[in-house]
Amino acid sequence: MTKPVFRFAPSPNGRLHLGHAFSALLNADFARRFGGRFLLRIEDIDITRCRPEFEAAIYDDLAWLGLHWEEPVRRQSEHFADYHVAFQELKGRGGVYPCFCTRKDIAETIACREAESGEAWPRDPDGAPLYPGTCRAMPAAEAERRIAAGEPHAWRLHMAALEQLVPGPLRFRRFDREGREDTVTAQPRRWGDAVIVRKEIPTSYHLSVVVDDALQGVTHVVRGQDLEAATDLHVLLQALLDLPTPRYHHHGLLRDPEGDKLAKSRRSKSLDEFRAEGATPQAIWRRLGFEP
Ligand code: GLU
Repeated sequence: MTKPVFRFAPSPNGRLHLGHAFSALLNADFARRFGGRFLLRIEDIDITRCRPEFEAAIYDDLAWLGLHWEEPVRRQSEHFADYHVAFQELKGRGGVYPCFCTRKDIAETIACREAESGEAWPRDPDGAPLYPGTCRAMPAAEAERRIAAGEPHAWRLHMAALEQLVPGPLRFRRFDREGREDTVTAQPRRWGDAVIVRKEIPTSYHLSVVVDDALQGVTHVVRGQDLEAATDLHVLLQALLDLPTPRYHHHGLLRDPEGDKLAKSRRSKSLDEFRAEGATPQAIWRRLGFEP
């Protein structure tokens, strides 16, 4: 029987905080209890925000915590070609279209529609307004001309077309801390025509994560609840690209005393700050509910 494969997949765009430590320790704990493998993946597709010193700090912090992962570590920035192959496949199936809208164009269209209808425009699970579909019906010749002229563009999923390509409900298996499983029905439609290749980056989080989980043979995805809804898109992409769907566990997020989730952007205390104050790895493990 093949061993279960777990992975911790941080983005090197800041120092790791306790929330990351929890996610990493939980993955490693599952791997140990399930007799599985533990991988580390560096999700650095956003070359504008990721920095080498943060990547070096990830290795350092995780080693300090006492974690061991398999080498070599997969660094997404070295695999844009793999994501491009997957994108070409989606394109070949007619599941995507180019979008030339700027953020401002989208905001203006939505403001107009809201003013006309007097109703709030629908939003995706992350709270962003759904794409109003401006470029969806653009004639292919016009799109090709604008691409050939070098006009910046993203690529979006054509959700209505995709529902025809993968008819029937999309389901995935969810597991809890004890390994009990149930089945969840994915609802990708609530994301609307999501961006699958960004304007400034030749892939997206959703595309890369799905390609990498499959290429690395990941069988069990353990990550924060903030990514739970994104699983809808991941399961849709797996069906379209004929990739296996891992099992998923989305853990609760650590919050600060004000109730906000820990975040690099909120300057939550980083692991190296705990370390500088004299905290031991054992103390971090215990604080996060693990037996060192
Ligand atoms: N790179 C993502 C993050 O740092 C995690 C992606 C995943 O686990 O699917 O939030």
